[in-house]
Amino acid sequence: MWPDTRAPARADALPALLTQPWLDALLEACCVIDAASQQIVGVNTAACELWGRSAAALHGSSMADLAATPEDCLFWLDAPDPSQLAPGHPALHSDTLILHADGTVREVERRITPMPLGDGRAGWLMCLGSLAPQRRAEAELHRISLELGTTLENTHDAILATDLDGAVRSYNRAFAQLWQLDESRPAQALPDMLASAMANPPAYRQQLCARQAEFGADVTPGPQATRFVTDRFLLQDGRTLERRLVPQYGRGGAVGWLQIWRDLTQQLADEARLLIASRVFEASQDALIVTDERQCIVAANPAACRLIGAEDVLRDACAGQRMDTLLGDAAAGPAPQLPLRRQGDASWQGPLTVLGADGPVPVQATVIDLSASGCGPGQLYVLRDLRERLAQQQQLHDLRLRDGLTGLGNRAQLSQWMDGHAASTPGTAPPLAVLMLGIDRLRSINDSLGHPGGDQVVIEVARRLSTSVRAADALARLGSDTFVVLLHGADAPTAEATARRLLATLSQPMTVAGARIDLSVSAGIALCPADGEDLDTLLENASRAMLRVHQHHHGDLRYCVYQPRMSEEMRSRLQLDQAMRKALTLGGFHLRYQPQIDMRTGALVGAEALCRWHDPVLGEVSPMRFIGAAEASGLIVELGHWVLGEAVRQAAAWHAQGHAIAVSVNVSILQFQQGDFVERVAQQLSLHRLPAHLLELELTESILIGDLEDILQQLQDLAARGVRLAIDDFGTGYSSLNYVKRLPIHRIKIDRSFIQRLPDDRSDAAITQTIIDLARSLKLAVIAEGVETQAQFQALADMGCREYQGYLCAPALPVAQFEAWLQAQTTPAAAGTARVA
Ligand code: C2E
Ligand code: CA
Ligand code: CA
Repeated sequence: MWPDTRAPARADALPALLTQPWLDALLEACCVIDAASQQIVGVNTAACELWGRSAAALHGSSMADLAATPEDCLFWLDAPDPSQLAPGHPALHSDTLILHADGTVREVERRITPMPLGDGRAGWLMCLGSLAPQRRAEAELHRISLELGTTLENTHDAILATDLDGAVRSYNRAFAQLWQLDESRPAQALPDMLASAMANPPAYRQQLCARQAEFGADVTPGPQATRFVTDRFLLQDGRTLERRLVPQYGRGGAVGWLQIWRDLTQQLADEARLLIASRVFEASQDALIVTDERQCIVAANPAACRLIGAEDVLRDACAGQRMDTLLGDAAAGPAPQLPLRRQGDASWQGPLTVLGADGPVPVQATVIDLSASGCGPGQLYVLRDLRERLAQQQQLHDLRLRDGLTGLGNRAQLSQWMDGHAASTPGTAPPLAVLMLGIDRLRSINDSLGHPGGDQVVIEVARRLSTSVRAADALARLGSDTFVVLLHGADAPTAEATARRLLATLSQPMTVAGARIDLSVSAGIALCPADGEDLDTLLENASRAMLRVHQHHHGDLRYCVYQPRMSEEMRSRLQLDQAMRKALTLGGFHLRYQPQIDMRTGALVGAEALCRWHDPVLGEVSPMRFIGAAEASGLIVELGHWVLGEAVRQAAAWHAQGHAIAVSVNVSILQFQQGDFVERVAQQLSLHRLPAHLLELELTESILIGDLEDILQQLQDLAARGVRLAIDDFGTGYSSLNYVKRLPIHRIKIDRSFIQRLPDDRSDAAITQTIIDLARSLKLAVIAEGVETQAQFQALADMGCREYQGYLCAPALPVAQFEAWLQAQTTPAAAGTARVA
């Protein structure tokens, strides 16, 4: 402050009435100054407040003393003459400082204007306006704008401000980051850049215009001020952005747009993932259960509810259902302690048992510690119901041990039983019998009935056996036609008794596909430990015994107990088989012919061709032996074909010589079952030009097994060609008079076994008589075989039999001898004696 250099002579105050009232009426701080003395002569209340002094104190104060700035000091030092200045024109108008009574400096706007004092003195009017409110407002504004700027800069939303025309005014850091803007990019290029980043730029532009027009049409502040619209855009780079368009209002109208952008890509992906997760949760076939850290269930999917048998497990969970009360098999003790928490593992896998509505359910469990994966405390149980899989495994296991067709055990099952048997008394194998049963000629049944028919036969056999074996015995099916029964604790007599019982059961006729089947079944028995201690050996030996039945069976005995020499037999069978094959190719077989005689006239009515084999090593082999072996090996088809050709050739030769001798050829069922049998017969007949009626085929009743219609067809074909048909060994096999009636046969051959004990055996006589009567009633020829004695001859003649063959007349003769015999018959001297030794 400048020192006062002038004498303080107090200036006269203003005439109070004149000025004070209007001075006080002013809101602005004012004081009136006497120009000559530069002293305050009038002051209002606002000025007193501003200076912090009373009107009395201010009256007479020198302006030079009050001046607080150099500008004010200078003005008052060198103040102009106000009367020289234009009235109302301020001599000084600027912002300045004043000194408050409390010693502080206040900022004011000060205006000094010339004003005549009205009593002739020149004066000044000084008006002071405090700048404090303005400064405060400015500071507030500054603070607000600073805060706003910081907020905008730090918000995650990317904000772009444009004017109404879309010209960019500003944007924040988030916006720059979102659009990867750098300093170099000019702001005016931004709108275009935004549009061209869109997957569909024209649509974006169009929509922005539409939105702005929609808002711009009605942009009066008020309720609309809070209006905004949100749109989503797909960008070329795959991102999805959301833009909120907000009109900005100011100065009574819309002044621009705020665009608030957000990248939704991650959020949408997360939402999609969540949606998928929730769908998976709902649809999962595995039971999913979420528990909190106290093991209380907080969520469970439908599969879990099904597993536990609770329709609304969640409600139970709210009631405090704890996971560990669901785990563990009540019968098996407390729930297993999950090692999860103890070891601090993030997950645990293993088998558990869950208490379901219907009892304990075995599950494969995965328990995941949710806190380890950042999902908060708790656990996720993934439980896979193992019931079905275990059942399947059991089923597979059972299947492995089961025969698919009959449901009986198979070979694997048999092994297990055998192991169990051996294990039951370690050290010594306890007594056990292996009884093997084979269906004879299942193949031919299959051929005639078809496989479904064959299967039905096998199933029926299985059924009958199952109901006939003791509970303690084990029944299995081994091959297509082979069954095995393990008879625990059985010795030979017991096993034989069982064999007889089972064979009797199986010999009952069965009806399959409308056809009556009389099965022939053979059985073999091997004893443990005598015939072997392991299953393989026992089965092998039982099978040998069974085979022996085929080769040597006599009468009704269709089972055989293994004898050690059977193995020897097997070897010789093989040897025989090889020798036969060799003989077939080298011409080792030949035929003999046995005359068939009319009993009344003694005339020759035919000759049966019988096969003979002389082997260089084995010597003379009986047909009983080699025919059986050839039947078993299948070689009979080839051999039979040779016999047929040879017999037809011989008959044709005799025919050419003028002897019309009907030749009978034995035919095996196996030959007959070859589809081309009829054709082969026809070929041989035409090859050798033999009239068909000079060939007779001898078939046994075994051909009646199987599809009778097919057999009938073949027989009718043969008969239609003129070939004669005979039933050999009649009365020993599958006799069924009904069938015989339907077959196109010409002759029945009474088996030798019935003739043997004639005439003394009444039963054989009765059977023979019945057969003869039957033949007569069916208008068939009948011939007795194996007639050896005159008594037999007479008995047969008395019964009405018309033909015979047998040693009484002649055995089977080599061709030369047969021709010699024939010669002797036809010479008149020998006529009437048809019998030779
Ligand atoms: P089979 O068809 O019943 O033939 C009759 C058998 O009885 C013949 O035995 C024959 O020699 C014999 N025999 C004939 N008269 C008498 C007699 O008064 N007393 C005795 N004790 N026996 C007599 P063989 O030749 O040993 O033939 C045996 C069986 O071999 C035949 O029985 C037949 O089933 C079969 N066989 C023979 N040759 C063939 C053939 O070429 N093909 C086929 N499939 N089987 C044949
Ligand atoms: Ca015969
Ligand atoms: Ca016979």
